[in-house]
Amino acid sequence: MNYELYMGAALAEAQAAVADGEVGDGAAAVVDEALVARARRTSAGSGDPTAHAVLAVIRETSQRLGRPSLAGVTVFSVVEPCAMCAGALLEADVDRVVFALADPRDGACGSARQLLGQGVAGSRVRVVSGILADEAAELRPELLRTATERGGHRETSA
Ligand SMILES: [Zn+2]
Repeated sequence: MNYELYMGAALAEAQAAVADGEVGDGAAAVVDEALVARARRTSAGSGDPTAHAVLAVIRETSQRLGRPSLAGVTVFSVVEPCAMCAGALLEADVDRVVFALADPRDGACGSARQLLGQGVAGSRVRVVSGILADEAAELRPELLRTATERGGHRETSA
């Protein structure tokens, strides 16, 4: 599977989100080498905190395929999915998640917490990261700053 090609579609969605005044967050879904859905974050415009790109692309894919199980689907996301989106990916039973940029603050695929991926009990979802990360970082420079600030500086919460 050409990861860069489909991540390019997710990045285009994220760029459109930024143009709409949203956070740069885009996603795409692929089945059998075909792009079946693409979506972007609409939280600012809709006032809906759950309107993340991954959640939207899961809904769209499910409607297109006419079934609640997304077995056989690979979801591409510009940013590492958050806990909410990772939970939805588990519920949808997707095959694989591919993301460009890790999110040290909210990422739930190994950065801030790990809800899915290789070796996680109850998860058969495979995780691939770092695809077109430089292009994604241009849209989400704050994530790189967060990663740098965290380097060598650990805080423990009470
Ligand atoms: Zn999310």
